Amino acid sequence: MSVQTDKEQFSFQAEISQLLHLLSHSLYQNREITIRELVSNASDALDKFRYASLTSGQNARCDDLRITIEPDKENRVLTIRDNGIGMTHDELVSHLGTIARSGSLDFLKKAQQTGEKTADLSLIGQFGVGFYSAFMLADSVEVVTRSYTEDRGWRWESTGDGKFSISEVSEPVERGTSIRLHLKDGMEEFTEPTRLKYILRKYSTFVPHAIYLAAEHINDQPPIWVEPKSTLTEEQYHNFYEYLTHFPGQKPLWYLHLAADSPFQFYSILYCPDQNLEKMGFGRADHGLHLCAKRILVQNDNRDLLPDYLRFLRGIVDSADLPLNVSREALQDNTVFRKMQRVITKKVLDHFDTFAEEHKDAYVRFYREFGVILREGVSSDHENRDRIAKLLRFGSTHSMQTSDMVSLEDYCNRAKEGQEQIYFACGTDPDAVMRDPNLEVFRSRNLEVLILTDPADEFILSHLGEFQKKQIVSVDAADLKLPPKEDDPSKSDEEKSEADKDQQDTPPNLEALISLMKESLGDQVQDVRRSERLTESPCCLVNAHGSMSTTMQRVLRMNTPEFEMQKMILEINPGSPLVKRLAELVTNSDNHRFIRDCSQQLHANAMIMAGLAPNGNEMAARLQGFMLELAGSKSSIVQ
Ligand code: ADP
Repeated sequence: MSVQTDKEQFSFQAEISQLLHLLSHSLYQNREITIRELVSNASDALDKFRYASLTSGQNARCDDLRITIEPDKENRVLTIRDNGIGMTHDELVSHLGTIARSGSLDFLKKAQQTGEKTADLSLIGQFGVGFYSAFMLADSVEVVTRSYTEDRGWRWESTGDGKFSISEVSEPVERGTSIRLHLKDGMEEFTEPTRLKYILRKYSTFVPHAIYLAAEHINDQPPIWVEPKSTLTEEQYHNFYEYLTHFPGQKPLWYLHLAADSPFQFYSILYCPDQNLEKMGFGRADHGLHLCAKRILVQNDNRDLLPDYLRFLRGIVDSADLPLNVSREALQDNTVFRKMQRVITKKVLDHFDTFAEEHKDAYVRFYREFGVILREGVSSDHENRDRIAKLLRFGSTHSMQTSDMVSLEDYCNRAKEGQEQIYFACGTDPDAVMRDPNLEVFRSRNLEVLILTDPADEFILSHLGEFQKKQIVSVDAADLKLPPKEDDPSKSDEEKSEADKDQQDTPPNLEALISLMKESLGDQVQDVRRSERLTESPCCLVNAHGSMSTTMQRVLRMNTPEFEMQKMILEINPGSPLVKRLAELVTNSDNHRFIRDCSQQLHANAMIMAGLAPNGNEMAARLQGFMLELAGSKSSIVQ
């Protein structure tokens, strides 16, 4: 039977065809990354084989696992060979024909948006499509492979044009996979041993399996995580980061090297990337930690050892106390594993504490990037909730100018004498928040207010409820408790009694005005009452005790127009000239229609200030009525 006649033809999944188009059109210069990706796949295949043979009890020989790089200058072919797990016919179809991970599609979309010529392809390996980078170097790729589970081998071939073929290989094939790259014109450098040696040393020094170029062993570095910190250089840490993450030339924001002997033994190096890929729109980060047991890689994407809110960390954890031959599921139930989870989480939080204290600005930079993920811990990690709360940062009225971020601890340290609550205000941006009339009393009494521009922050704070025994409340809470007024020594007794007089200066018919307003507004509000928090504006809306916060309601309303806002309390400022005048007018029932209209308009104004939308048509009609009345009262223009 001839190999030729037995070729089965397949089409790539549409997204792969798009990816191949992108790869062949990109002017991306750094083609070395193809070698890195293929060596990394070979290394994974060796890990998988070793893991499979250790756990299946077959005890196959694992001491000769290796990656071989074979340049053939004459024929312009580069082969990367491993004696790892190999692939069956069906695995070839699914692994090298479809994209399994959703993150890969995000990568593709993002790269296409950037423009296919300028797309940055350096992150390709992060997204589960590294193999296809082969088509940056080669115009045809041949994969010959034999799975450790069977005796026959398969040949996969493609010229990257949307199709691939698979055929059975008639001659005997060794276990593992060979990737043969038929190099493009101009890619001859990838058959030069010196050039290849340079690339392999640069990217693959830490690959935990022997790499041979011709007969030379290229990577004989010991694993750095088991070395004492004092013997390692920054460069070694950075190189290892590059190796783990495939982020070329990027430095981590910080790293943490841990070693412990009891209650169990482990080594770990954890890195914080300098950018949050989730924030850049790449979807949820789906790479995790490399988990090793006695230097043997058990998983290269463990997502259980660190809690979800630390999922942005990369790195390696190696423990002699972890069992090697258990499934992923069983690992999670393993006592040592669970204890290790707690210890490592605690160490990371300890690190954050010191980092935040010793490098305030750098910590804020970190928080601006990863705070959105870290803060999730407040609601998901009950045990460490208070520690995580200390790590949160917010904008504040006391740092508006410097746009610094403050911690709840900073806030409490400078709270006023007798201040029992922590106040926060929410809005779409800091300027909008500062215009909120609810802030007037805080401004006049110089009380600090946290400024939240992300509804999720409000959710986190509501979940927290209190910090250092101070209740956390929104400035529009109906049950706001303000600290007692301080005696201001700079004011003379005369000024003070003048101020007191202002406070007590209640218009005589305020109660009558309030009841007319209540009647006019009916069930649009829960109540109308005199305000203690306004100093300038005539009125504002406050959130009745126990109701859902205004921001939450606003968000719900935006997403579901049928959502009914809960009723709020309208507070009016007895010191405002408008309220004073209305209180005078209320004694004459002829003015009541006008006062009713004013009540409606004051309520509509307060809604706008609170970021809520009043009925626009009614409001326009009412304002035109006011204008007509005003126009009527003007003396006529003399011709
Ligand atoms: P990733 O390796 O991130 O999953 P790739 O596109 O690089 O994405 O590879 C797709 C899949 O093809 C791998 O997950 C693996 O199952 C299979 N594969 C690639 N190279 C090899 C190899 N050398 N040996 C065995 N399987 C391989």
